[in-house]
Amino acid sequence: MGESISIVGGGIGGLSTACYLADAGADVTVLEQHDTLGGVAGTAEMEGFRFDTGPSWYLMPEVFERFFDHFGRSVDDAYTLERLDPSYRIFWKDGDRMDVPADPEALAPKLEAYEAGAADAFHRYLDHAEEVYDLAMERFIYPGRSSLRDWLSLDVLRSVRALPLLRSMDAHVQGYVEHPKLRQLLEYKLVFLGGSPYNTPALYTLMSHVDFNQGVYHPHGGMQALVDALAELAEDLGATLETDAPVEGLDARGTGVQVHANGHTHRADRVVANAAPAHVERTLLPPAQRDHDDAYWDGRTYGPSAYLLYLGVEGPVDPLLHHSLVLPPDWDPHFEAVFDTPGWPTDPAYYLHVPSQTDPTFAPDGHHSVFVLVPIAPGLRDGSARRAWMRERVLEDLATHVVDLRDRIVTERDACVSDFAEHFGQPQGNALGLAHTLWQTGPLRPSHRADNAPGLYYVGADTQPGVGLPMCLLSGEHVADRIVGDAA
Ligand SMILES: Cc1cc2nc3c(=O)[nH]c(=O)nc-3n(C[C@H](O)[C@H](O)[C@H](O)COP(=O)(O)OP(=O)(O)OC[C@H]3O[C@@H](n4cnc5c(N)ncnc54)[C@H](O)[C@@H]3O)c2cc1C
Repeated sequence: MGESISIVGGGIGGLSTACYLADAGADVTVLEQHDTLGGVAGTAEMEGFRFDTGPSWYLMPEVFERFFDHFGRSVDDAYTLERLDPSYRIFWKDGDRMDVPADPEALAPKLEAYEAGAADAFHRYLDHAEEVYDLAMERFIYPGRSSLRDWLSLDVLRSVRALPLLRSMDAHVQGYVEHPKLRQLLEYKLVFLGGSPYNTPALYTLMSHVDFNQGVYHPHGGMQALVDALAELAEDLGATLETDAPVEGLDARGTGVQVHANGHTHRADRVVANAAPAHVERTLLPPAQRDHDDAYWDGRTYGPSAYLLYLGVEGPVDPLLHHSLVLPPDWDPHFEAVFDTPGWPTDPAYYLHVPSQTDPTFAPDGHHSVFVLVPIAPGLRDGSARRAWMRERVLEDLATHVVDLRDRIVTERDACVSDFAEHFGQPQGNALGLAHTLWQTGPLRPSHRADNAPGLYYVGADTQPGVGLPMCLLSGEHVADRIVGDAA
């Protein structure tokens, strides 16, 4: 296509866009403000320990295969992928625990112990989740259909009993199982989308197909292996990747877009912003070129932020698995503290990533790399006293219910709301982007093309299709298609 394209940000969406546009013949430059690529898909090295600082669940492997396949490559060329079995372990704070096996057939009988008929209900639930997944991927997500008319077409409404998919996920799940622990099992994946079972539509039942049928994978070397593979591919295709290159302003008056970066100004035919649209509008664009005012962005529902603790630990950390969840039997107070009445959770539900349980490259011999993630409300004040309180709270909780790490921590670091705000420009310091509520789903998310700034496009978690590594890869494909179409 021969156009010059600047991409603001080298997250997964920015790198994916770079690959597609460079492949289409554009002159592509990625400008990343930090000294590393990958955005929130980061890695930290501390005293011989390695941590995936952001995403750690490699889900929907077919999306990654499809991506590399487009460029004549395969995931196997890029990194080694291992399916985890069990996929993860749940610890309930009443002493109960459940391993979720890779084979859903092996999970079903376990559910019967909680509720008579649950095995059969699980099968019916999962069949429906698969039906919704297939339809959503084929009709909307892969082709990048973004108009409301497509989503509301009659055959779609008929084919998956669509109207019930607009009620809440919790209401949907209760149509199959009633036991609170089984509901948690089917619903917790919504946190990955930045939502709760009460504000996320049942359409996202498709996440259960992703979770139980498709399974959970680990790329050897962690998410850095994915980021490295994307960067290498982009460069092979001819893109230029610049780090330490903060973009300070954009101006779409005249032909092309003026890009102010690193104290210099250059003109690009088009610009793709991988930074959050709210951040771009508020800090990079002249007011007249914004599509929305502050009230609009303040009124959005953002996904949770997180209190994150990265620990290098000496000695065994059993019974933690590669992925573990620690849940209070009643998790409603925690969701209320995230979405309804923002506050620090006193009885937290949290996630632990211990990749060194399966991948020895993450920690020195006899040690483990442990990452704790507590979802918290965006916008909370996270001064050192608050962080210290949360650290004590979570380590004490872990010691009471799973394993005591307190005397064996050899290195540590944390991250929280202000780090997401300052480091990545995430509105209110949220971690995941715009939540997938009903009014922020599909065509109701920010679109790929700005209205008032000609030549400016958006890619990444805050746009369509949404949050998560696979969705951001697809977002790059869709925005590139749009640009190639606009340039024709
Ligand atoms: C803690 C955490 C855990 C997660 N867990 C999972 C998981 O297990 N599995 C999963 O699939 N997903 C997970 N996610 C979600 C997933 O990581 C994100 O949806 C995805 O990585 C976001 O990618 P993105 O393309 O939106 O770009 P981002 O990662 O948001 O990157 C945007 C980039 O733009 C750069 N930038 C911003 N402003 C400028 C500027 N002015 N100039 C230059 N550069 C700029 C930033 O520095 C950044 O590198 C998780 C996210 C977080 C935070």
